[in-house]
Amino acid sequence: MHHWKPPPPLSLSLRSCRFVLSFTPAPAMSASSSSEVAPTGPADAIYRDRILSSKLYFDVPPSKVPVIYSSSYDIAFFGIEKLHPFDSSKWGRICQFLIKEGFLDKKQTVEPLEASNDDLLVVHSESYLSSLKSSLNVAIIIEVPPVSLLPNCLVQNKVLYPFRKQVGGSILAAKLAKERGWAINIGGGFHHCSAEKGGGFCAYADISLCIQFAFVLLNISRVMIIDLDAHQGNGHEIDFSNDRRVYILDMYNAGIYPFDFEAKRYIDQKVELASGTKTKEYLDKLDEALEVARNNFNPELVVYNAGTDILDGDPLGRLKISPDGVTTRDEKVFRFARERNIPLLMLTSGGYMKSSARVIADSIINLSKKNLIALDSPLGRK
Ligand SMILES: [Zn+2]
Repeated sequence: MHHWKPPPPLSLSLRSCRFVLSFTPAPAMSASSSSEVAPTGPADAIYRDRILSSKLYFDVPPSKVPVIYSSSYDIAFFGIEKLHPFDSSKWGRICQFLIKEGFLDKKQTVEPLEASNDDLLVVHSESYLSSLKSSLNVAIIIEVPPVSLLPNCLVQNKVLYPFRKQVGGSILAAKLAKERGWAINIGGGFHHCSAEKGGGFCAYADISLCIQFAFVLLNISRVMIIDLDAHQGNGHEIDFSNDRRVYILDMYNAGIYPFDFEAKRYIDQKVELASGTKTKEYLDKLDEALEVARNNFNPELVVYNAGTDILDGDPLGRLKISPDGVTTRDEKVFRFARERNIPLLMLTSGGYMKSSARVIADSIINLSKKNLIALDSPLGRK
């Protein structure tokens, strides 16, 4: 979702620290098995037990709307974000816009639980999770070198804890999508992280986790990922490499990070864009892609990774999509799923310009105006 380019003044010392440590991942007893059918055997039983004993799926009363958010989503970088165009309070600002303009009642949003160590072990290995215990490792894993300058306790409490709350939100979103038809997690979408490897600002594989939980707890077996962040979603692609239960449509700028050629082999439907692609061409390609996807696969759940780093001016995404183009894009994906009654969950993923929060809020407002979502609960209707 976000690839760090080291700023010039810090580059020497920080760049060198990227190579200080290396990880030797233990053989993963991972749920993200490459088998074509649901995995079986002792490892499967352990991960099923972990999912069945998780607290992340809880009953949400009908008075709430399926918009998931916690004030602890927002990350504090203590000024480090000033080194880079990065709005670390994007998530809170999206909600503030929606609430201030009367489209959302704060009391009606759903606060998720933090993903616990046992929850994360459904996909990640012990060794991967232990490596996140030092701030230097975290800086390397998420590829944001200045994070290594922060005291470890701050990295744990102000960076990783917010991430784990967002992961809890992505996992819960699948349950709410199944119950209500749609759900939006105002966060998550860490699509560069796979079971054993983080990257590009992503420390936990929330998309893989959300789908593994859905397989077990929602009793479904066909999931479509529609990844429209500007970057290739190499994390979930690696995790579901040969898993035919998951169909991946990924449309991304092929001229930017992560250039993961192995992961590209696992994309079922790849739409590669060039830097500078403009709104009309983008939306035409999306129409074509959704038509092909509609004919290729019949999902029981759509996971929509809705990064806004496709916006014109985004220094990382390098595409030229207008704010209205983002609104139209989101509307097309919601129509794709809603018209066929396929539960859909949206994650906000990358896009950290100051303007991103406004664009996401405007897009959610448009979805509401077009009756693709209802932001007032039946009980709370004014
Ligand atoms: Zn991105």
